Amino acid sequence: MLTKDALTSYNKDASEKLFEEALDVIPGGVTANIKHFAPYPIFMKEGHGSKLIDEDNQTYIDYSLCYGALITGHGHERIMQRTHEQLIKSGTMIFGTPHSLEVDMAKRIIGLYQGIEQVKFTNSGTEAVLLAIRLAVAHTKKEKVAKFEGHYHGGLNNLLASINPSEQDAGEADQPNAVFESNGIPNDERENTVILPFNNLEATSALLREHANDLAAVILEPVQGGFIPADKAFLDGLRKITDELNIVLIFDEVKTGFRVALGGAQAAYDIKPDLTTLGKVLGGGLPIGAVGGRKDIMMLSAASKDGDVFSVGGKSNETVGTVFHSGTYNGHPLIMAVGLETLDILEENNIMENLFSQTMLLRSRLEKMYASYNIKMQTVGMGSIFNIIFTDQPIKSYRDMWKANIELRQEIDTELLSLGVYLKPLNRYSMSTVHSTEDIDFTVNAHESALKKVLSRHAKRKRHA
Ligand code: PMP
Repeated sequence: MLTKDALTSYNKDASEKLFEEALDVIPGGVTANIKHFAPYPIFMKEGHGSKLIDEDNQTYIDYSLCYGALITGHGHERIMQRTHEQLIKSGTMIFGTPHSLEVDMAKRIIGLYQGIEQVKFTNSGTEAVLLAIRLAVAHTKKEKVAKFEGHYHGGLNNLLASINPSEQDAGEADQPNAVFESNGIPNDERENTVILPFNNLEATSALLREHANDLAAVILEPVQGGFIPADKAFLDGLRKITDELNIVLIFDEVKTGFRVALGGAQAAYDIKPDLTTLGKVLGGGLPIGAVGGRKDIMMLSAASKDGDVFSVGGKSNETVGTVFHSGTYNGHPLIMAVGLETLDILEENNIMENLFSQTMLLRSRLEKMYASYNIKMQTVGMGSIFNIIFTDQPIKSYRDMWKANIELRQEIDTELLSLGVYLKPLNRYSMSTVHSTEDIDFTVNAHESALKKVLSRHAKRKRHA
């Protein structure tokens, strides 16, 4: 039997059984470690609109939305229809050749993202970051990369550092340690990463100046974790100093793209990064990534008539000048079609405005409810993403999150899973265009029920102490 404690218990028999089966055949029972949580993750079998249905037939309002990817909710009628139409029209899953939809999608992205002049597609956000970093190294002829503490950029060896470091390991606030958070990363890859403090321009500038001769790129989530906004002055300052020091500025907009504004955080802040990575929403629920940016940098990866690593017997000295980028599934026609339909929906009148105002409605109603119980709670976010943080202290960076009452959040989130609100415990909330005011009512009521349960458990514990 799986162990349970008061903080993390619920009864979902079918999920528990499936998880025990999974543990035998999949390491840890999940194929993406983020999907694990105690005592066992919930196995879903259907999704409709704002709802998920699990293997025990319980319905949930879904605020994970596949970690933000499903901005039009589950199984949007137009997305489903476009999927069928595309398959029938093309008669195949994929051509394995160039096709018009990838050109259409590139044009759409360029029209929306002010920092993007050309685009290439990948299959995931991680792959997009891989290409962006390789381009930056080729462009600057420097080798180090700077990232911010608390920011996540996928599974690359040199960027799996200081995403969630402990207080003991994190080091000085002005000069954070690089704390690597995966086993199996070679030492020489650990030496090329510099960690910066988010929203602290003075300390960031000092570190950038110190490492300027080695730094190819600064990569960041312009809204940390999708919910802690950068200060405008911080981003302006970062843009200026990276220009001055010949460091490529990469906005990783895998979470924020199409979610904090249609044109991403770069539109919201009116800043042009050199390179941008996209993912999640762009594929409408199918796997995707994209890199876009300045033409002079993007062109470093241009295919050449003189050949490449795939030209067997070709002039191998011609391959060295090009930044390698390829992938069997890059620019997949079905994903492009679904992505284009998603953008069509999002560009309709008032859709984004409504999405943002529904998100604000949920945030303000939750804040009001918790305040009525004198619980120190705030929501932090931007556009269609937010998080619930149990502290009244300002939240500007990763370390500020240490001030929050994580145990309370964990208890509430676990209760919510019994009450029919789905979110991986402690994760951020993402909204969709189909979350209704009834969903919001249900969610606020569920939070209130969860809070009452937790408070009465605490009171009982106190009496028995
Ligand atoms: N960058 C950011 C900002 C992300 O949020 C993620 C995924 N959560 C990634 C990169 C990696 O994307 P993927 O999971 O598609 O590889």
